[in-house]
Amino acid sequence: MKSATIALILLTICLSAFPQADPTATPSTTTEESYKIPDLIEFFQSYTAISEEEEEFSTPNASLLISHSSLPLDSLPDSLYIACADYHPITTSQRITSRFGIRGARFHFGIDIGIPYGDTIRSPFSGTVRLATYQRGGYGRYIIITHDNGLESVMAHFSRTLVKEGQKISAGQAVGLAGSTGRSTGSHLHLEFRLFGNQFNPEKLIDFNTFSINTQEDGCYFMTKADTYSHRPQLEEMKRAAYHRVRSGETLSHIAKRYGTSIRRLCALNGIKETSIIRIGQKIRYR
Ligand SMILES: [Zn+2]
Repeated sequence: MKSATIALILLTICLSAFPQADPTATPSTTTEESYKIPDLIEFFQSYTAISEEEEEFSTPNASLLISHSSLPLDSLPDSLYIACADYHPITTSQRITSRFGIRGARFHFGIDIGIPYGDTIRSPFSGTVRLATYQRGGYGRYIIITHDNGLESVMAHFSRTLVKEGQKISAGQAVGLAGSTGRSTGSHLHLEFRLFGNQFNPEKLIDFNTFSINTQEDGCYFMTKADTYSHRPQLEEMKRAAYHRVRSGETLSHIAKRYGTSIRRLCALNGIKETSIIRIGQKIRYR
């Protein structure tokens, strides 16, 4: 019931954003002004209205509630405007030490910026601190900020955080000091941007060489799934990955036959040569 209603609202948003795709529309009356791409805040509100009505739940801070939930990327509009006029640089460091994307056998859902220990890290936009906590062996000391524009940012590995959960913060406000807590080697900031729980590459939004932000004249970032989430095929490919653990006497030929693939394909997936020796216990990706 609930998801059906959401789907209907989303459909309405999509149709109103792209009426020219409707074969019954009169092309001659379709002008630039006749459709509008929703902004993230409007999208929030349409979503919030439903959850309040159907779950009889209300909160003084609707955007905070919504940001707790994640939505599958497929249920978001193809494009959205995200208000970024209050942007302030996060750090003065330009040293990106690890980029967004596939990193070994894992996907790195953010970027790492090398920042001297103890340097100030600032919030890129205004918002509310949703989480300020500690994760051993992972993010270390980290925070999640729900920004007023609807994005969320995750910042991790602080030596010290300077804000508390529920605290309202402004763009450019100091939120923590750089460090190396959690799974980290050397002082750095792990930075993620999320839209309803869906991480995207922060470099799509911010140029860390110039600290400038990729927005239009009105200060909005134009999010399109095609560009902002261009990493999606990579991620799906990665989710499909499956591994075989080599047993005594097995060769690449055995493994290829067992999984209905070729030796050449196995070599490409694993970055090995057909003549490579495989050892017992080794994990071989076959898909
Ligand atoms: Zn990282």
